[in-house]
Amino acid sequence: MLNFEKSKQAFKESSQYMPGGVNSPVRAFKNVGGDPLFIEKGAGSHIFDIDGNEYIDYVLSWGPLILGHADPKVVKDLQDATTRGTSYGAPTLLETELAKKIHEIVPSVEMMRMVSSGTEATMSAIRLARGYTHRDKIVKFVGNYHGHSDSLLVDAGSGVATFNVHDAPGVPKDLAYDTLTVAYNDVAGIKNVFKAHGDEIACVIVEPIAGNMGVIPGTKEFLQTLRDLTTESHSLLIFDEVMSGFRAAYHGAQDLYQIKPDLTTLGKVVGGGLPVGVFGGRRDIMEYITPDGPVYHAGTLSGNPLAMTGGLSTLEQLNDDLYKQMFARTDELTRGIKQAADDHHVPVTVHHVGTMWSYFFNKGPVNNFADVQKSDVDYFAKFFKALLQHGVYTAPSQFETNFMSSKHTKEDIQKTIAAFNAAFDDVSEG
Ligand code: PMP
Repeated sequence: MLNFEKSKQAFKESSQYMPGGVNSPVRAFKNVGGDPLFIEKGAGSHIFDIDGNEYIDYVLSWGPLILGHADPKVVKDLQDATTRGTSYGAPTLLETELAKKIHEIVPSVEMMRMVSSGTEATMSAIRLARGYTHRDKIVKFVGNYHGHSDSLLVDAGSGVATFNVHDAPGVPKDLAYDTLTVAYNDVAGIKNVFKAHGDEIACVIVEPIAGNMGVIPGTKEFLQTLRDLTTESHSLLIFDEVMSGFRAAYHGAQDLYQIKPDLTTLGKVVGGGLPVGVFGGRRDIMEYITPDGPVYHAGTLSGNPLAMTGGLSTLEQLNDDLYKQMFARTDELTRGIKQAADDHHVPVTVHHVGTMWSYFFNKGPVNNFADVQKSDVDYFAKFFKALLQHGVYTAPSQFETNFMSSKHTKEDIQKTIAAFNAAFDDVSEG
């Protein structure tokens, strides 16, 4: 058994000062019934906890680290940037450079604003959609997560699902009233909502590849229906690609499906491990943002030079060959996991799109949040802890996604598949 003594002590102390001992809820391992590991360092595809245990890491800071931990070029670029100061609150060339790079990779983002988190990106995109259309209602999908702003917490995924706080205490009822929710991939459901409220809807916001209830790809028909309905009703379509951007495919889910949203939100990979979010899209809509237009948006640290450097240094290293390699590794890993579960007679549904992957202890099919909820979360909790014992660090919830980085080797994949087999042995033996 691995020794977690130092992490245990550290958690005791952090719990004195922070609710749940953490700064973001799913980190706490509360739902899997354990204490979180405190991390000392990361290198490539591996992380090390403060007790000196080493793991192959598939959380990768919940997605941003597509180049793995402490990528040498990212580290060097950040070191150099720091010597020039950490923030100016005035324009820098770095912001335009990153904006150009983002536009090159995701061409529908003609104009954009940099912010400091995915939450800020989606919150601002929603305000912009409301300001642009002069309408209040928005549509989101059950089990999709778009950060923790008021309008978007309704029926959300991620920690909201993990900890079952769907009624979102603290969100004013009137705001929640303007958020209409529909089941994911429910074509008839969304048509009905538009029939009833089409001319009141400012926007539909969707994770084109859902990643906050495990990985669930939107169907082509579903996403095309969203595009058609919003166009007909003069409301806006927002693709929340905070997770799927640079991950489901190099050019995002919008390239994979060949569907062009009006606005896109980005985060995670776009900052390479530093706090960056982006909202952007059609020029005529983005021109509504202050100071050119009336919809207010601002940020003391928006476009921060260190954050821009983390993003640029990461995006500059991405290319088609790297994606080919990561996709092949993800494919190999998920096939190995399915085989391991089958060999142990454990019902499982394994999903992956690009570098995003997850497994549900559920015989499937898994196409929406109701399907995910049929998963065996007790088995998941035991299995997660068994995997840790075998040196594999995955997302500590059935309602989350795992990731692949460019630093994961063939050997890492083989070791991980062996660890899954060993963990199935352990859990089966009780
Ligand atoms: N949108 C999506 C699709 C996300 O996955 C997340 C975070 N997991 C967010 C928005 C919120 O981003 P952040 O945690 O950076 O605020």
